[in-house]
Amino acid sequence: MLAAMPPVPTPKPAPGAPRVRERGDACPGALRLHSADDGHLARLRLPAGRLTARQVGVLADAAEALGDGRISVTSRGNAELRGLADGCGAELAALLAEAGLLPSATHERVRNIVASPAAGLDGLGAADVQLWARELDERLCAAPWAAALSGRFLFVLDDGRGDVTGLGGDVTLVAVDPRTALLHLGGRAVRVAAADAPRAALAAARVFLSAARAAGTGAWRVRELPEDAGLDVRDVRDVRDVRDMRVGRDGQVERGGRDAREALVAEEVPEPVLPQGPPPAPGPLGPAALHVLAPLGRLTAAQLLALLPADEVRLTPWRGAVVVGAGPDRTSALDAAGLITRPDSPWAGVSACTGRPGCAKSLADVRADAVPGRPGLPVHYSGCERRCGHPHGDWVDVLAAPGGGYLVDGAPVPRTDLAPAVTTARTAPRTTR
Ligand code: SF4
Repeated sequence: MLAAMPPVPTPKPAPGAPRVRERGDACPGALRLHSADDGHLARLRLPAGRLTARQVGVLADAAEALGDGRISVTSRGNAELRGLADGCGAELAALLAEAGLLPSATHERVRNIVASPAAGLDGLGAADVQLWARELDERLCAAPWAAALSGRFLFVLDDGRGDVTGLGGDVTLVAVDPRTALLHLGGRAVRVAAADAPRAALAAARVFLSAARAAGTGAWRVRELPEDAGLDVRDVRDVRDVRDMRVGRDGQVERGGRDAREALVAEEVPEPVLPQGPPPAPGPLGPAALHVLAPLGRLTAAQLLALLPADEVRLTPWRGAVVVGAGPDRTSALDAAGLITRPDSPWAGVSACTGRPGCAKSLADVRADAVPGRPGLPVHYSGCERRCGHPHGDWVDVLAAPGGGYLVDGAPVPRTDLAPAVTTARTAPRTTR
């Protein structure tokens, strides 16, 4: 069987490189649906992955009533509904808007904000970046120019533990201590006051847009800019954001009380380094929160509802959810609902793209072929070389091959032998990737 499989050159995706874009991005949104083989797809941006308890119910209802009854959690902690029927876009938009999930029709696709999901819950971070995410979202939606960002441009807000810094943010904020943050853009960084951090992140996006316009290459992301584009994070000092707002400890937006037209104080940091840390393991997070993973990144409507009651739910970039207000006593119920609640679960760290039958490009039903195994490196199953939704950092690449079978990190493996091959790839020491 091995001999029958033709060798296919399938390098894993390389880091971004400068490129010329001829058109705007076609990223799906909640209002711009994407047509797939299994119906229409809607991608709902959830800054910091946050859903109120009521929004959890609305999303589950929408999936049941309008889609295929499931909710996919993306690698940015957003939610996707699939299997949507022709002509249901207006009804979906009305449902989402009524629940407060569509605060801006013009900016809905640019609300790409990932924040450390355990911030404020387990005492490990230097600041509650979840509050920063809310303020940044308010500012983003209030800035008309920000609608020109691409649907792929990403803000990453890390509370200092380094769990989300590896997600490839275009603008990355890192909390240093309760009063200070570092703002990273294009390989350079400036130190800003924590109180100014969300404002500084938005200013950095504006600096990027100015550089992209000047370069004229239509870049969607920072890594696509040519080297001589003149991107300089210190330019945030010249951006005036006339909106004056803050998110208080109660989560409410406050306006007034400060002259937001004053320049940002931003001091350059030589040779900045991004902290790197592991994602929180499935299980309890502090005394009153639980982190669970969705099997293969997809929740049924019933599984989403099983997260309730909760003070709030935060969908995570690791395709799971942090249930705020849930103590360890909820673990067995969430386990019974089919969610991954332990780090030693054989499905922990296993993800897959849509594959067949939902995606016409796929060579296999990768979700059906994915196998559980001994936990180790994350593993991602892909139906074609695009490898949609693959993890960041080090991971095992399982790619459907023409003619059947798979390539595990480039080595041909028959489908029937996937389990041992994937286990070996996830657990064996590796020197180079
Ligand atoms: S990786 Fe390929 S097969 Fe999988 S969802 Fe993306 S385009 Fe489709």
